[in-house]
Amino acid sequence: MTKISEILEYNKNFVENKEYETYIADKFPAKKLAIVTCMDTRLVELLPRAMNLRNGDAKIIKNAGAIISQPFGSVMRSVLVAIYELGAEQVIVVGHTGCGMASINADRMIASMHERGIHPEVFNTLENSGIKLKRFLRGFSSEKEGVIHTVEIIKNHPLLPPHLPVHGMLIDSTTGELELVVDGSEQD
Ligand SMILES: [Zn+2]
Repeated sequence: MTKISEILEYNKNFVENKEYETYIADKFPAKKLAIVTCMDTRLVELLPRAMNLRNGDAKIIKNAGAIISQPFGSVMRSVLVAIYELGAEQVIVVGHTGCGMASINADRMIASMHERGIHPEVFNTLENSGIKLKRFLRGFSSEKEGVIHTVEIIKNHPLLPPHLPVHGMLIDSTTGELELVVDGSEQD
């Protein structure tokens, strides 16, 4: 694990050497794109390179699996802010091969929570408050299905501007090759 002191030391040099200069951009996405994708470590640099995105080009919204579990949750809010406040004119949902959310095992994760010291009482309290943990920790059965589902949620959202294209893609986590899963321009 990288220690905080190492990060801060590196950062000091980064700023002093003005390495930031090649990244200067403003908050409005130059390519007028909003991208919803996964937090997977393999995509950190690969996705922007493979899609020819540089600093300032796109709003990139990430979470585990590029999933929108709540139509009125923070991911969808981010998409709407990107559109209405920052000028995004297209949305692309990008899933990826080998996504952890395709193989997530809620039972295993709950067992791990027990092992790491979450008190059994907590699970009872949550269950009694109507929090369905297994549902909360649910992923999808295939990466492609996950992309299609997220595209549908965005496309059908009552606050999405009419005719705004919402596309779906799958990126190969190794080669960066993109597959178009949903062509949102067809809906116009
Ligand atoms: Zn993923």
